[in-house]
Formats: sequence, C-alpha cells, structure tokens
Amino acid sequence: MSENFDVIVIGSGPGGYVCAIRAAQLGMKVACVEKRATLGGTCLNIGCIPSKALLQSSENFEQAAHEMKDHGILISEVKLDLARMQARKGEVVGANTKGVEFLFKKNKITWIKGAASFTGANTVEVAGQAYSAKSIVIATGSDSVPLKGVEIDEKRIVTSTGALELDKVPGHMVVIGGGVIGLELGSVWRRLGAEVTVIEFLDRITPGLDNEISTAFQKVLAKQGFKFKLGHKVTAAKSSDQGVTLTVEPAKGGAVEQIKADIVLLAIGRYAYTEGLNLAAAGVETDERGRVKTDAHFATNVPGVYAIGDVIAGPMLAHKAEDEGVALAERLAGQAGHVNYDAIPSVVYTWPEVAAVGKTEEELKAAGVAYVVGKFPFTANGRARAMGATDGFVKILAEKGTDRVLGAHILGPDAGTLIAELTTAIEFGASAEDVGRICHAHPTLSEAVKEAALAADGRALHI
Ligand SMILES: Cc1cc2nc3c(=O)[nH]c(=O)nc-3n(C[C@H](O)[C@H](O)[C@H](O)COP(=O)(O)OP(=O)(O)OC[C@H]3O[C@@H](n4cnc5c(N)ncnc54)[C@H](O)[C@@H]3O)c2cc1C
Repeated sequence: MSENFDVIVIGSGPGGYVCAIRAAQLGMKVACVEKRATLGGTCLNIGCIPSKALLQSSENFEQAAHEMKDHGILISEVKLDLARMQARKGEVVGANTKGVEFLFKKNKITWIKGAASFTGANTVEVAGQAYSAKSIVIATGSDSVPLKGVEIDEKRIVTSTGALELDKVPGHMVVIGGGVIGLELGSVWRRLGAEVTVIEFLDRITPGLDNEISTAFQKVLAKQGFKFKLGHKVTAAKSSDQGVTLTVEPAKGGAVEQIKADIVLLAIGRYAYTEGLNLAAAGVETDERGRVKTDAHFATNVPGVYAIGDVIAGPMLAHKAEDEGVALAERLAGQAGHVNYDAIPSVVYTWPEVAAVGKTEEELKAAGVAYVVGKFPFTANGRARAMGATDGFVKILAEKGTDRVLGAHILGPDAGTLIAELTTAIEFGASAEDVGRICHAHPTLSEAVKEAALAADGRALHI
C-alpha cells in the first residue's frame, strides 16, 4: 500500500523546502523526501550558509590582524583558532537546518528520510516504501562539475565541500575556476594566510558579470594578494604526501608548466543532479545538459511532475530556487505564481562584495538597446570613507529615452544589500530619475546608489 499526498517534493534545499512550506500554507497535504541526514540541501549544509559563516569569520580575522591599526586600535597578537572557527560554522549550519526541521513540524509537512526514485508518473519509492501524490516536484539540486585528469579526494584535491572543511590553512591553494564559489572560498583561505592562485580557462574572471565590474573586481582581488593565471587550463593533477602537482597549459595551446599546491580547489561550475531518481520510470525528459526540461510554469513533459531550482535551467542561486518553489506551490493551488527572471539579483560575497541585477552593458549592446550609464564611486561616499571601504562603484544602466532601469552592477561594501533597492526598481519598472529623487539617509552607502541614478542624467551632486 502506498501512502498518498497532495504534493511530494523530492529534495529539501531552498527550492524544495520553501515549495513544501508554501504548499502546506495553502492547505495541501505535503511530504518532502531528503536523502541527506539534515534538511536544507546544498545551501544550508555545504553551500551558502557555511561559506558565509567562514567568510564572516575570516573577514573578522583579517580586520583584527591588519586593519584595526588604522582605526587606532592596537591588538598585540592575533592568533587563529581554526578548530573554533570551523566549530562555529557547524553551529551556524546546525541552527539553520534545525530551523527548517522546526518549520516542517509547524506546517505539518512529513519528512520522508531517504533517496526517492520514481516508479511511475505519480509514484516514488523511498527505502522500499511506496508513496504517491497528485503532484511530484523534483528539487534535487546540483553537484560540482568534475574535471578530467583531476581526481577529487576531498582532502588535497577538493570541491567546495572539502574546501569548507580544511583543518589547516594551506601554504598554497590553487583554485581551478575564477567563478563565484572559487573566489569566495579562495578569499576565506587567503585571509587566513594562504597564498591563492586562480587558474581560469577564459581570459577573465566571473563570466556573466558586467565586464567593467569584473575587470575592476579582479584588480581589487589582485591588490589583496590573489594571483591570477587567466587563459590557462589544468590538464592533470598528481597528488602525493607532499602536495599536488598540476599540469597547466595555455587554453589556446603552448608551453606546458607544472604548478605545486598544498590544496587544489576545483570550482568550475555545477551540474543538475538527477542521479538515482530513475526519471525514465516516469518518462521525464532532460535537456542536453542533463537539466530537467520544464515549461515556463515548471511543468515537465509528464502531467503532474514538476521541477524547480538548480535541477532546471536558469541561474543556480538559492533565492531563484525559493521563488520558483513559491510560484509553483501557488500554481498547484490554482493561483497565478510567477517568477520575474529579469529581476533576480546575484552576489559575490567577497570583500568588497559584487552584486548585479538585470542586464549587463554587453547584453544591452548585443540586443541593440540604446542605454545611458550612471556611475558613482565609493571614494566619493562619506560613509564608505568613514568605514575605510572605498574600493568600487555603483553602475546603473537605464534605457535611453524612457530612462527605465535595465541593469545595475555594484562593486563595493555591502553591495549585496544595496542591490535590493535596484532590484525593487527593476521589478516596479522605475526610471533612474525615480531612484535619484528618493530621499536616502545620510551618511549611508545607499547614497552611492542615488548618486549613480542621478549620474545617469549627468547630474550627480557629490562628484
Ligand atoms: C559553496 C557554495 C556556496 C553557495 N553560495 C550561494 C550563495 O551565497 N547564494 C546563493 O544564492 N546560492 C549559493 N549557492 C548555490 C545554492 O546552494 C543553490 O543554488 C541552491 O542550494 C539550490 O537549491 P535547490 O533546492 O535547487 O537544491 P539543493 O540545495 O542542491 O538541494 C537538493 C537536495 O535534494 C537532495 N536530493 C537529491 N536527490 C535526491 C533524491 N533522489 N531523494 C531525496 N533527496 C534527494 C539532496 O540531498 C539535496 O539536499 C552556493 C553553492 C555552493 C556549493
């Protein structure tokens, strides 16, 4: 006999657990299957949350070790207690995963423990038990992309999961891949004392970000001590007790060299994870990159089976997965759930941070859209000066003629928080002038956003 639900969500990451909560709020009988021992998925267990805990701790360490002197605070000896830092990270993760468990109980969601695999279009099996539902939601997330010749052992050659668990600061860490995860975790270990080299296949870091921001970001990271080897590829990695020797060559071909590292972090991207799901039993189709194919309303080709989050197309971000979870639950309840993919912010949590929403300058050029640019540097912002955090700038792209905000890009202190205002602007169809005419508290970093909006009309006040 199978146990029956209105909705079974497979995977308890930010896509799955939020979908489950919203569906339960709307009166459905909901179960969520999770094969990990704790709820919360990649994000809470081995992604967003532990990485941000270590970014915060390592930032505090760097401030205490190097930056307090300038503020007139003398600390005689700053020592690292990495075991405590890691334990604190574990406590932060635990509080968050327990929080989801509490929310499941509060919303009467059944947590089915184990790995789900389809046995038909509306049936799954978990640990030998059959379950059925009117709607099944695939929210199984993603995993790290492997690289031929570089074998992961999660000790010396690690993915982000191993990089979050190191019990010793490496002398030399090589990061393969100049994307968000590599730069964030590279920042953690650089701040704690590692020499960090980033090897990137492309001739730029952070592909997808606005070019101008990306170039400025790389300069800031280089000033902090990051070394970059762009336009190069790693073709082999040999691990021994002494460390790892990487074979590296120019992406376009040329002289091969060897680079030694104590730890290698492989961070070249993530792929949609559907292993063990037995999609074939349900007849669910995937695309050429293994992502579950859906229509604009998260429906797969099989009636009653849906998919959200990292396992489908679109940016692999926790808040994108969450919003899809909410929209889908509302559609299952007969409402009109919707996600606006033009207004999904993305953030790199280094220091300074990088944040973006909407179109880049390159995208607007490629689409033939006429635009104006408004820019304002943090060097001219009083609060940033007071903080001693003047690296970076705000850049707003507005449509020529209508002045509508089409894109916004920030390199600077708390960029991830500042971008929320410009996300709101895009969501509400605001013009740059609208943002420029809003009263912003003084002295705050948000005044740089207002000034960049004014600059789009050539009328910034403080520069
Ligand atoms: C190091 C790192 C840092 C990150 N930082 C950020 C950040 O700061 N901000 C941000 O927005 N995003 C960040 N991300 C990305 C973010 O974690 C993902 O976008 C997000 O977790 C995707 O959510 P999801 O619900 O689609 O899937 P996931 O969070 O991957 O959850 C999927 C869950 O499904 C479970 N599962 C899989 N198959 C089955 C099965 N057959 N049966 C039962 N359970 C199954 C898995 O165990 C997993 O728990 C980061 C990722 C990493 C790796």
